[in-house]
Amino acid sequence: MAEWPIHTSFPGPIVMIGFGSIGRGALPLILRHIDAPRDRMVIIDPDEAGRPIAEENGIRFRRLALTRENLRQELAPLLSGGGFCVNLSVEVASVALIQLCREWGALYLDTCVEPWPGGYTDPSLSVTERSNYGLRESARALRRPDAPDPTALIAHGANPGMVSHFVKQALLNLAEDLGRAVDEPKDQPGWARLARDLGVKGIHIAERDTQRASIPKRWGEFVNTWSIEGFLGEGMQPAELGWGTHEKAMPPDGARHPYGCDAAIYLNRPGCATRVRSWAPTPGPQIGWLITHNESISIADYLTLRDEDGTVAYRPTCHYAYHPSDDTVLSLHEFQGRAFERQPKLRLMNEEIVEGIDELGVLLYGHAKNAYWFGSQLSIGETRRLAPYQNATALQVTSAVLGGMVWAIENPRAGVVDADEIGWRRVLEVQMPYLGPVIGAYTDWTPLRGRPGLFPEDIDPSDPWQFRNVIVR
Ligand code: NAD
Repeated sequence: MAEWPIHTSFPGPIVMIGFGSIGRGALPLILRHIDAPRDRMVIIDPDEAGRPIAEENGIRFRRLALTRENLRQELAPLLSGGGFCVNLSVEVASVALIQLCREWGALYLDTCVEPWPGGYTDPSLSVTERSNYGLRESARALRRPDAPDPTALIAHGANPGMVSHFVKQALLNLAEDLGRAVDEPKDQPGWARLARDLGVKGIHIAERDTQRASIPKRWGEFVNTWSIEGFLGEGMQPAELGWGTHEKAMPPDGARHPYGCDAAIYLNRPGCATRVRSWAPTPGPQIGWLITHNESISIADYLTLRDEDGTVAYRPTCHYAYHPSDDTVLSLHEFQGRAFERQPKLRLMNEEIVEGIDELGVLLYGHAKNAYWFGSQLSIGETRRLAPYQNATALQVTSAVLGGMVWAIENPRAGVVDADEIGWRRVLEVQMPYLGPVIGAYTDWTPLRGRPGLFPEDIDPSDPWQFRNVIVR
C-alpha cells in the first residue's frame, strides 16, 4: 500500500522478548513495514495479558520468563540459525542476549541496556555498576572493531535512541540559522567539531508529557504513560550526566567513574529525587527530573573532541530533563514520601487518556542564539489515528524500534553500536510519519531567569549554563 511503505524484508525468525507497552505498540509497525513471515515470529513474555494482541495479529505467543539459567536453552531453538532478537523486556540482560546473538549470527536491538533483576537496586553493587554508565560500558566491552559481528543496536528507543538523531538535525539547523555554511559531518570527530564550533555548551533531553487520563491518580497508585517498572528502575539509579568541558566545578555530590570513557559523572542521589531547570516549547520554562539515561552518556561521548595526545578538548554537558505526565509527577511525589517503597497499585495509562501530547526533544544551549529546542510534539489523538495499542509516549519509542530494525537489517554486520553511530537520516525517514509535528524553536530563557529572587542563592551569574545553575538544590 502506498500509504504504508514496506521499508525492507527479513526472512526471520523475529523473536520479541517482552510484550508490555513498547512491545505491543512495536508489533503492528513491524508487521506493517518489514516484510517478514509471521509464522516465523515469536513473542516471549511471562505475562499472559498480551496474548490476545499477539494472537489477533497471527503471532505465536509463549508464556515464559527468561532467566540467566534458561536463556540459552530457550532461545537456541529459535535463534541459533540466525534471525533478529528484539529485546523489549525489563529484567532480561542485554549483554547476555548480545553474546548469544553474536554466537548465533542473529541481529539484536534493545531500547535500554537492561541488567538482570536487581541490577538497578542491589546495594552490594557499586554505584558505577548500578549506573547506565556501567551498563553501557559492559555492552561496549563486547565491541571488536576488526570483527564483522552481527549488528547489535543498543538503547535505540525514543530516548535513548531517536534523540541522538535529533541532536544531529538540530546541529545542522543551528549552523544554518547562524549563517554557517557547513557540510554534513561524515564521522564522530566531525560532529564533535561542529558542536564545538557552534558554541554548544550542553544539551538537555527536554521532555514534557501533557497526556491526561479520564481517571485521576488515586492515593496508593503509581500511574505512568510507559513502563512503571522501567521508570522506577531508572529513577532509583544514580542521577547521571555527560560532563561538559565548560563546567567550572563538580557538583558537591558528584563523582567520576573509576573506568571507561569518562564522558559522564554521577551524583550520589537517585534521579527521581533530582530536579533540574529546563525549557520546552509548550510549557516554556519547567522543572524536570534528571533521570539517568543511556543517551546522556552516549551523546556526550560521541560529541567529545580530543587533542592528538588524547586530552579532551571539548564535550557538551548532556542530561535528561523529564517532566512526565502530571499524574506521574504526583505518583513520584508519593513514592518519595513512602521512602521509595513502591505503591501497591500500578496503572499504565492508555485507553483512558483523553488529551495531551508527548513533547520530546533536544535543547541545545549556550550558543550565540542562546538555546534551540528540536523535537516531536506527538498528540494522543494523532497517535490513535496512526497505530493501535499505544499512547503518544509509546509511539515515539516504537517507531524508533522500527527505524532501528530497518537500519540493522540493511546494515547487518556493524557489531555493537550506539544510536549515535548509525545512519540517522535513514532512521528518521522511517520514523517521521509517526512523530506528529517535528519542530525547532529558539528561546531566550536561561536557568538564571528570575534569580536570585527573594532569597540568596548559590548561583554563578557569570555563566547561566553552568550545571550549578541548572540543578534545583
Ligand atoms: P513494560 O513493563 O510495559 O513491559 C515489559 C515486559 O517485559 C512486560 O510485559 C513483562 O512481563 C516482560 N518481562 C518481564 N520479565 C521478563 C522476563 N524474565 N522474560 C521475558 N519478558 C519479561 O515495559 P515497556 O514500557 O514496554 O518497556 C520495555 C523496555 O523498554 C524497558 O527496558 C524500558 O526501560 C524500555 N523503554 C525504553 C524507552 C526508550 O525510549 N528508549 C522508552 C520506554 C521504555
